[in-house]
Amino acid sequence: MNDSVTSSASSSRTLIVLFTLVFFSIASIIWFYAGGAKSTYVLSPTELTYRYIDDTPMGGDTQGDVTTDDSGNVVLGCTLGRAYQWPFCEVAISIRDDVTKGVDLTHYHSLVIEASYIAPKPNERLRVYLRNYNPAYSTVDDPVSLKFNGLEYTPSETMSEYTLPLKAFQVLSWWIAGRDLALKHSGPELNNVPLVEIATSSTPVFGDHRLEIKSLRFEGLWLSESQLFRGLTSLWLVVVVVILALKYRQSRLTYKLERSRAERLRTINVALKQKSETLSVLATTDALTGLRNRLDIYEALEERITSRADRSCTVLCLDIDHFKHVNDTYGHDMGDRLLVLAADIMRESASGSDVIVRWGGEEFVIFCPKRNLAQASFLAEKIRWAFEAATWPHGELLSCSIGVSSMRQASIAAMIADADDALYRAKNGGRNRVEVFAESLIPADA
Ligand code: GH3
Ligand code: MG
Ligand code: MG
Repeated sequence: MNDSVTSSASSSRTLIVLFTLVFFSIASIIWFYAGGAKSTYVLSPTELTYRYIDDTPMGGDTQGDVTTDDSGNVVLGCTLGRAYQWPFCEVAISIRDDVTKGVDLTHYHSLVIEASYIAPKPNERLRVYLRNYNPAYSTVDDPVSLKFNGLEYTPSETMSEYTLPLKAFQVLSWWIAGRDLALKHSGPELNNVPLVEIATSSTPVFGDHRLEIKSLRFEGLWLSESQLFRGLTSLWLVVVVVILALKYRQSRLTYKLERSRAERLRTINVALKQKSETLSVLATTDALTGLRNRLDIYEALEERITSRADRSCTVLCLDIDHFKHVNDTYGHDMGDRLLVLAADIMRESASGSDVIVRWGGEEFVIFCPKRNLAQASFLAEKIRWAFEAATWPHGELLSCSIGVSSMRQASIAAMIADADDALYRAKNGGRNRVEVFAESLIPADA
């Protein structure tokens, strides 16, 4: 009962855990696709350093500057001149003051620029560079050594957002061409970016350019789809393994419990059997003499006799002579003592195969499955003589009369009745004697 309660409680606990896990998994997936894992890195205009750069150092005559307007927007304004072959102007935005310690952008998928760009011609493009520092190819002294991960795009003339996928950034070929790079460093790298640059296009249009930047931000996911599903799968695996381990442990415990219970039952059964055997011995034993009593004697004898092919058996009926006189003269206790001694005489005279029964009062019956009539008569004489020869505690002689008979009609009761007849004759004949039932002397097949 207790075990079944425990096991049903553990099953319902398992169900609760599984339902919770299902709920958690579904909630995680919904949360993920609803944008819960989004992460954004905003380049705050107030915290960054903006620098103006143009072609003047290369001999160009471009003029311009970077300012901040009333709305807080960063404004790049320049007039591209013709003096240099590839004129340009740009705004360099330092994300970090220390160029060696840039930002890891590998967790982001897009750069969103909110800006407006007015050029002398419509649909003019802008270049965007994410400059990566790597000691394998960069030095602090040489600004050009920071890798040029770049792309060109066409911004709107009015203030609007534009999303640039970071996957679309490519390393500029002129930058690769100028250096002896290991192959593994020739692709885009965005793991250490201290600088973002936005410049006029590579096919410049001379004249006035005005770029207003309202905001710059990187967007990404701090948890990818594959990480989410890998995580959920691992969680399920761990939970299932734990549940299986617990179930295994529980079944081992139940098995042990059942075994010890069976062991206990076996012990109890053995004890009960011993007890019942003791009780049955007590029930069939005479308390005074320790001999068998009459209870179930027929069944016990049948077992012994039936095992003999010829069902042969003889019996002695013994009655102590004038026992009433002993009781009357010496008291009942003395009578008891004499009965115990009489039983001892019979035990000593008989052999192991004889069954001595206190039939009642001072009467005894001795069954002899292994004796023929002559041998039984001999035993009877032996006992009678032992009575006569014994020294009795009341100081007088004590004799007994014995009737002997054999299995004539294949019935134990009839055999006893015959022996009793013989006993009767012994009493009538003067006591202290053995009489054999007359018909027992006739062979059975006669
Ligand atoms: P007989 O020679 O004809 O057998 O004479 P008896 O006196 O032995 O015969 P009777 O059957 O008249 O008396 C038997 C006596 O045995 C009667 C009873 O007081 C006594 N007796 C029976 N059972 C017990 C017992 O358990 N203890 C004692 N002390 N006496 C018993
Ligand atoms: Mg008697
Ligand atoms: Mg008697």
